[in-house]
Amino acid sequence: MSRSAHPAGPRHADVLPEGHYSGPAADLNELDPKVWAQTVTRDDDANGVVTVGGIDVKTLAERHGTPAYVLDEDDFRQRARAWRTAFGHDADVFYAGKAFLSRAVVRWLHEEGLNLDVCSGGELATALSAGMPADRIAFHGNNKSVSEITRAVEAGVGRIVLDSFQEIVRVAHIAQSLGKRQRVQIRITVGVEAHTHEFIATAHEDQKFGIPLAGGQAAEAVRRALQLDGLELIGIHSHIGSQIFDMSGFEVAAHRVVGLLKDIRDEHGVELPEIDLGGGLGIAYTSDDDPREPHDIAKALTEIVTRECDAARLRTPRISVEPGRAIVGPTAFTLYEVGTIKPLDGLRTYVSVDGGMSDNIRTALYDAEYSVALVSRRSDAEPMLARVVGKHCESGDIVVKDAFLPGDLAPGDLIAVPATGAYCRSMASNYNHVLRPPVVAVKDGESRVIVRRETEEDLLRLDVG
Ligand SMILES: *Cc1c(COP(=O)(O)O)cnc(C)c1O
Repeated sequence: MSRSAHPAGPRHADVLPEGHYSGPAADLNELDPKVWAQTVTRDDDANGVVTVGGIDVKTLAERHGTPAYVLDEDDFRQRARAWRTAFGHDADVFYAGKAFLSRAVVRWLHEEGLNLDVCSGGELATALSAGMPADRIAFHGNNKSVSEITRAVEAGVGRIVLDSFQEIVRVAHIAQSLGKRQRVQIRITVGVEAHTHEFIATAHEDQKFGIPLAGGQAAEAVRRALQLDGLELIGIHSHIGSQIFDMSGFEVAAHRVVGLLKDIRDEHGVELPEIDLGGGLGIAYTSDDDPREPHDIAKALTEIVTRECDAARLRTPRISVEPGRAIVGPTAFTLYEVGTIKPLDGLRTYVSVDGGMSDNIRTALYDAEYSVALVSRRSDAEPMLARVVGKHCESGDIVVKDAFLPGDLAPGDLIAVPATGAYCRSMASNYNHVLRPPVVAVKDGESRVIVRRETEEDLLRLDVG
């Protein structure tokens, strides 16, 4: 998507930049509850400073420094609970740990009755060290190592999601040599690729994950898994994409997965008890996004699977889903301090912050859209078209590509980018030896560091000379 500013310059940008969805909000001080964590408010008695979890951002910046990810614990728990409740007792919700994982988060999930997806030894270690019962953990990944599989089987994870023909044999062998029978699902690719408002259904899928349904490959994988003593095949897994708003991709996927379940019943006389529809449900990054409520999603997915199974005369299997972004994404924002401000005449104003692509790679990686607001005070200055950029040695180091910020923005102001709870800290890097920011959980007027800021000692400790 290419964007260009209004030729008359940002201060005259009553005509929208090309390709931009919306102009400046009527009031830049307003915080759209769709994109901000639940307890975020602007305190008009205190010069309009923004508070979250009962603490204002200036206090947070003084206590914990910037940049920092600020995570609203009540919001996290409430979203986790909403997913759990929406799916009830006949389904399982697995939080996708890759979105953001820390020991505090594992404990919250455990307490709220969710299960957990991991996809590496590191994620597994984090989950186990925070006391997640192993049988509530699912282990994913297209290239799990022998040592990772061994650890997972030894720990007794609830399921391993098999991703290739080689892995079927590998897991069976490891389980058997440990004297165990490992519960597994087979991840298949059904030829549905879903992103946001569109999905494409094809016969084949060209990607590294899963075993293709096409050409009878998934059926062959099932045949082999059923024969191996080390494996207990409990279901079929399908994950179709990310940041999805439209349920029709899931509909096609469920139709194809149920078709396979029917073939398995016909060939082997076995009705597999579970179906996992993966994650990928979208959230609002900007006011233009309209995500669905977990309750609606649960209802739609359950209806789709039930209808397909009725048509195939199959008992409806137990459904599981794996939301990551939809739980943690909206619960956090990144708090930055404004540094250099550089107006480029006729184009836009570059606003540099004290972080960048090291704490949010999604804009550079996926052309992701974000919103941003001035949070340390209110301002009634004219909106200016801004681009929020980081401090890295890379011109693609953009955090928010196009956004309106108050024209009186000044160095030292605090700005915040909402909806950074998912895939920001978890994808953070040390590029330019920039130190990764902390994750600060806020609740009831208290702030608590749940992942501390990296220090220069941390960097030097790894660099053994
Ligand atoms: C990434 C992933 C998820 C979570 O995706 P979100 O977009 O964060 O909901 C769930 N399941 C699998 C297998 C994944 O790879």
